[in-house]
Amino acid sequence: MTAANRPFVIALEEHYSDAEVAGQNPRPATPQAAPSVGANMYARLQPLLLDIGDGRIAEMDANGIDVQVLSHVPGPVQQINAEAAVVMATAANNRLYEAVQRYPDRLAAFAMLPTPDATAAADELERCVNKLGFKGAMIHGRTQGLYHDDRKFRPIFERAQDLDVPIYLHPGPPHEALMQAIINDYAADFPALTNAAWGYTIDTASQALRMILSGLFDEYPRLKIILGHLGEALPFLVDRVDESINRGPKKVEFKRIFSENFYVTCSGHFSTPALLCTLLEVGIDHILFSIDYPFVENPPGMKWMETVPLSIEDKEKMFNGNARRLLKM
Ligand code: ZN
Repeated sequence: MTAANRPFVIALEEHYSDAEVAGQNPRPATPQAAPSVGANMYARLQPLLLDIGDGRIAEMDANGIDVQVLSHVPGPVQQINAEAAVVMATAANNRLYEAVQRYPDRLAAFAMLPTPDATAAADELERCVNKLGFKGAMIHGRTQGLYHDDRKFRPIFERAQDLDVPIYLHPGPPHEALMQAIINDYAADFPALTNAAWGYTIDTASQALRMILSGLFDEYPRLKIILGHLGEALPFLVDRVDESINRGPKKVEFKRIFSENFYVTCSGHFSTPALLCTLLEVGIDHILFSIDYPFVENPPGMKWMETVPLSIEDKEKMFNGNARRLLKM
């Protein structure tokens, strides 16, 4: 497929690392991170993560990516004390704004939120959206050990609904108990189990499940959550979860909430069978394109794009139209 007949491409889960944040925390993986997520991968990718200028634009040009929505890598902001988190997030978001201003047609941004203080995080989300033109925010895994279904985080989701911007629920270091029970025995031989191969998926899917069970979407019925990696396996499971979970005394409209309030991107998961399952479960209007750069390289995603069995109209939705609508671009 040539540039002339490919869709305009907006990629949503594209990461960077703020130089000052990285300087304060030379291993951007949080203190909860498994050793294998840490030094080696970040050291190799750090030059790409730090570049939100000409080098990144050249890489986008070489691969046919028209717009990247930038988000910070999982970092310390959700784990440090609230006061320091507010200072860190505000400064990092201001620097990200400046980077986007240099390439306003090519870059957009999701905010870093100081989640240890949920009200301050809501205020920072509002500032980033209204003053800096950001498209929403990204949250990584847990905050100080808590999943975000905890009621203390409700102000963030209330404000996201009020502002009509999505929260991107990104993997963070999996829960220690999950690591101990399922991952650690095999992690030395198969390090990716701690992250993309298994740990990230089940931890993030579990967080999404907990958010639904907590009544979050009854309280904020217009809240929009984005999941990467083709929905962290949930599209495949949604019918079974919905049927079985409602055998108990309490009822929850799991399937309806998942298909209405959630959007999924194909970050790092370029599988046509998985895409078709997702398409049948949530519909084309809730599927968006992402690479997960630089943790995943651009060429495999762009090559896969040429093969996805969608109509021209649906391809336009997946690769740009849905992002334009959801992110108001
Ligand atoms: Zn990612």
